[in-house]
Amino acid sequence: MQMQLLQDRIRKDGQIKEGNILKVDSFLNHQIDVSLLQEIGKELKRQFEGKEITKILTIEASGIAIACIAAQYFGCPVIFAKKTKTLNIAGEVYTAKVESFTHQTTNDIIVSKSFLHAEDKVLIIDDFLANGKAIFGLSELVRQAGAELVGAGVVIEKGFQEGGKRLREMGIDLHSLAIVESMDPATGSITFRKED
Ligand code: 5GP
Repeated sequence: MQMQLLQDRIRKDGQIKEGNILKVDSFLNHQIDVSLLQEIGKELKRQFEGKEITKILTIEASGIAIACIAAQYFGCPVIFAKKTKTLNIAGEVYTAKVESFTHQTTNDIIVSKSFLHAEDKVLIIDDFLANGKAIFGLSELVRQAGAELVGAGVVIEKGFQEGGKRLREMGIDLHSLAIVESMDPATGSITFRKED
């Protein structure tokens, strides 16, 4: 189920940039509208209602605020995967490689083995879904820990890119609160997919 309040805000304040990038710096990625994040957190909780979740896993930096506010409704801790270019603590961490959509670089992402365990039931949360690399990398950390991946919650999915299709085909229970179907930098017009 998509969120009307969020779609309206994206239409009003989202800026379409070159390279299929949607900027939402005025409410999600730089300045943060905390009351909107509360509604996002509640909606994510509704979407995964009845599911047992022991950890929320996200990736720095933009996912952290969203995950923390959502975690208040799930009543569980948040782990954020750290991005690093020098992997010198191998052995004590789970690690995966993630190509950055916005920066065109590859980072190793790491989570300490102290915080993710085989008995954990994990919900992945992130701000955007484009080609799916970030969520796939996070799911790889869950796999390495032997934990259960309950699903993934995304604030904005760009439905015209491949990630959503790939992750759903992998069997991940993916819920996106707004799925952008098209965005036109020339006119500024944004359309959303009708249903999740
Ligand atoms: P993916 O790994 O799915 O290709 O890309 C998702 C990651 O790239 C997200 O963590 C997000 O930070 C960043 N990203 C991808 N597309 C956009 C976009 O259109 N706008 C912004 N602000 N970030 C994006």
